[in-house]
Parts: sequence; C-alpha cells; structure tokens
Amino acid sequence: METQGEVYEVVGIGFGPSNLSLAVALEEHESKAHGNPISAAFFERQPTLGWHRNMLLPSATMQISFLKDLSTFRNPASQFSFISYLHSAGRLAQFVNNQSFFPTREEFHDYLEWAESSFADRVSYSSEVLSVRLPQSEGPADHVEVQVRDRTSGGSRTVKARNIVVSTGLVPKMPAGIDRDERIWHSSEFLEKFRKLDHSKVKRVAVVGAGQSAAEIVRFVYDTLPDATVSAIMPSYGYSIADDTPFANQIFDADAVDDYYHGSERSKDSFWRYHKNTNYGVVDDQVIRDLYQRAYDDEVRKTPRLNFLNLSRVDGVKQVGDDVRLTLQSVRNEETYDLDVDVLICSTGYDSMEPSELLGDLEAHCLRDEQGRLRVERDYRLATGPDVTCGVYLQGGTEHTHGLASSLLSNIAIRSGEIADSIAERRTPRHYSTA
Ligand SMILES: Cc1cc2nc3c(=O)[nH]c(=O)nc-3n(C[C@H](O)[C@H](O)[C@H](O)COP(=O)(O)OP(=O)(O)OC[C@H]3O[C@@H](n4cnc5c(N)ncnc54)[C@H](O)[C@@H]3O)c2cc1C
Repeated sequence: METQGEVYEVVGIGFGPSNLSLAVALEEHESKAHGNPISAAFFERQPTLGWHRNMLLPSATMQISFLKDLSTFRNPASQFSFISYLHSAGRLAQFVNNQSFFPTREEFHDYLEWAESSFADRVSYSSEVLSVRLPQSEGPADHVEVQVRDRTSGGSRTVKARNIVVSTGLVPKMPAGIDRDERIWHSSEFLEKFRKLDHSKVKRVAVVGAGQSAAEIVRFVYDTLPDATVSAIMPSYGYSIADDTPFANQIFDADAVDDYYHGSERSKDSFWRYHKNTNYGVVDDQVIRDLYQRAYDDEVRKTPRLNFLNLSRVDGVKQVGDDVRLTLQSVRNEETYDLDVDVLICSTGYDSMEPSELLGDLEAHCLRDEQGRLRVERDYRLATGPDVTCGVYLQGGTEHTHGLASSLLSNIAIRSGEIADSIAERRTPRHYSTA
C-alpha cells in the first residue's frame, strides 16, 4: 500500500473503533465530494480488526446506545451506521422487535467488522508502529516519519505523514507486584487464556476487581464451570451501580466536551467527582442482580460456590506447587489470610493512553501544562513548538482536556469529524499535490 516517498496526509496509528470512525469521517468528508480527498493509511498491530475480543463474553451488552456508532451522531444519513449494518444483515425488524438500545458486544463487533470491510485497502494489519521521528531537514518539520514493524515478516519500513492520529487504546493495568503468567491473567486476555484451560481441572478461580469486567467474568466463570468455586475479591463493600440515568448521561453528549474543555480546573474536577460513577469502577444493574441471584440460589440449595471477599485487598501472590497462593488483607481489621486457587484473574482496569513513548524525538516539541501533561487543542491536536508544523492528533489520552468520554465510544463519530475538519482546514495547496 505504501508508495516510496509519498507523504500521506493522515497516518492513523491503531485501528480500533476510534480510527475506524476517522476512516469513515474522511470518506464522508466534503473534501472527497469536491474531488480532493484526504489520503490516509492506518497501521494496526493485530492480525485483523479486533475490539476487546477477549471480553466478548456471551450476552455481555454494550454500555452505550447503538445510535452512538461510528458515524450517526455526525452524519445520521451515513452508510456506515449501525442501522445500515442491521439493514444489510437483514435484521433491522428483529432488532427493533427486541426493543433494546444496547446490542450485545458480539453484535457490535460484527458491526465493526462489517464497516471495516469498506476500508481494508487503507489498513495494514500485523503492523506495529514503533516510533515517530522528525525528518533530517532544515526548517520547521511539516511531516513526520513513522516507523512500522511488520509482525509477520519481522521487517520494518518508514512511512511519511503530514498528520498522525494516535489511537492506540487503553493500557491494561495489573496490581503492583503481580506479574502475569499462565495462571495469572489480566481481564484483557481472559477468553484466549480461558479457552486453553483444561476446564475439568479448574476448581477454584479468583477474580480481583469491582468493575464491569470483573463482575462479568465472575458471572461467566460461575456459569461455565459448574464444579468450580469463584472468589470475587474487592476492596469495596459490594459492586456499585453504573449511573446511566438521563441527566448524568448528558456528560457524554458532544456539548459536554466544550463545557469540560473550556471549564476551570475546579469544574473539571467536579465532572470527575460527581460523574465518575457513570463508567469507571462500576457495574451495570443487570449484572449485579444476576450475581446476587446466583449467590441467593446457592444459599437456598446449601451449595455455596460464589465467595464474595469484600473489603479485601491482594497483598501478595506466589506459586505454591500447582496453586496460585494469594495473601489477602482485610480492609476491615488489617488481618491477612491466604487463599489458594487454580487461576487468578486481575480485572484491575486500564491506564489511559499515553503517547509520549511512541512520539520519539517529536515528544520534546510537544508543549505541556503546569502539571506536565500534554497540551491538547480543542480539535484534539497536540500543541507543539515552532519547529513542528505537522499535526499530531490524539483519540484517547485526553481525559485532562476533553473529559470523561475520551477513551469511550460515546463521542467517536463527532470527534473523528472534528479531527477530519481540522486536518482539511489546515491543508495548504502544496499538500493537495501530494495526495
Ligand atoms: C471489555 C471492554 C468493554 C468496553 N465497552 C465499552 C462500551 O460499551 N462503550 C464505550 O463507550 N466504551 C467501552 N469500552 C471502552 C473502550 O476504550 C472503547 O470501547 C474502545 O475500545 C475505544 O476505541 P479505540 O479505537 O480508541 O481503542 P482500542 O479499541 O483499544 O483500539 C486501539 C487499537 O490500537 C492498536 N495498537 C496499539 N498500539 C499500537 C501500535 N503501536 N501500532 C499499531 N497498532 C497499535 C491495538 O491493537 C488496538 O486494536 C470498553 C472497554 C473494554 C475493555
């Protein structure tokens, strides 16, 4: 796909929903209708499109409305909307009959694959971006060189871009001092590892965490391994509910990005303090009720298999023979005790995207605020010094500037459109000739 020496107007790093949505926005941008399309190439390290594949648990549902798809909020007439997908799959009537705003994650993944099939010519898979560097030339840098490694052949190549859009996603976070291995997993690798297990030998499973993924995994393991005891370890007293009521949900509206972006530090803090419970460390009502019902049914049958170890923290983990031995500390009285299990799953969340390492020597030209955080313009473009005129845009990692939806799907249609507009508006006639 790369022509030696060609300078792409956009190179997208990562091809999850955010940059797929950008591909849609570029395709539908008025510049294309005017015969002047924005050239783009995307690089994705996975071998195919994959959206949290290891958490596509049966019946797990989306936490946003199907209307918050890749394009509808920007262009309700888009041919890449979830409704167009349903129509093309011949399921529109059944979907409506089902009367749910929230498709399963499995169906949403199918939708993403359907949309992706229109952009396959622009995406290189098994292609990991290693770093970005500035060209060795005089004057301000109007493009960057993106170093890409082919994970299949091991070879690497360099691609030039006037703008890069970094969208590499959330970074799985393990508890301090605990390393992953064949029996200790992060939730982001759950299904792949679970399928490889000899299920007949797994009798004791522990899941650490109190958020949505933790609760979903507890429910799934309990249902899938009828002879296993499942211990749910959490620092809180119980799971807390995700607030998706209408007023609170407004914080995911496109207008809320402006309110957050232009707000004072105090108002930004209020967004997080009052509304973090819309998404972070919380669980959907139905999953909580499902778990409670299972525990209650166990009580009735006098066969308890669900073990809720609340107010507890993991103090240490070690291998003892074939067992994983957890040392747990009770938050209640500081006492410690051991728990031996066959498998430990750490559903301990994610860090937000941090592009600094990827940006290589470009990073030194990126401006930072008083707290050392990257300065990001309203159009998601990093503020850079005078020696850099090319664009670096972020999809993710902008929680400090753009708010709570930064790593979520809620706003991707509008955000991608804003990035496409910004790139188009900044084009100079010189750029047109290289497209
Ligand atoms: C289990 C789970 C369920 C979720 N459900 C919802 C939901 O219902 N609603 C919601 O709003 N949010 C949800 N989220 C939040 C999630 O962040 C978004 O759904 C979504 O993944 C964001 O899309 P993205 O493209 O920004 O990031 P990602 O989907 O993470 O995509 C980033 C891509 O970049 C690739 N990549 C990373 N580094 C490189 C590199 N150096 N070179 C090349 N490629 C690279 C990765 O392989 C990946 O494919 C969920 C998160 C999880 C973990």
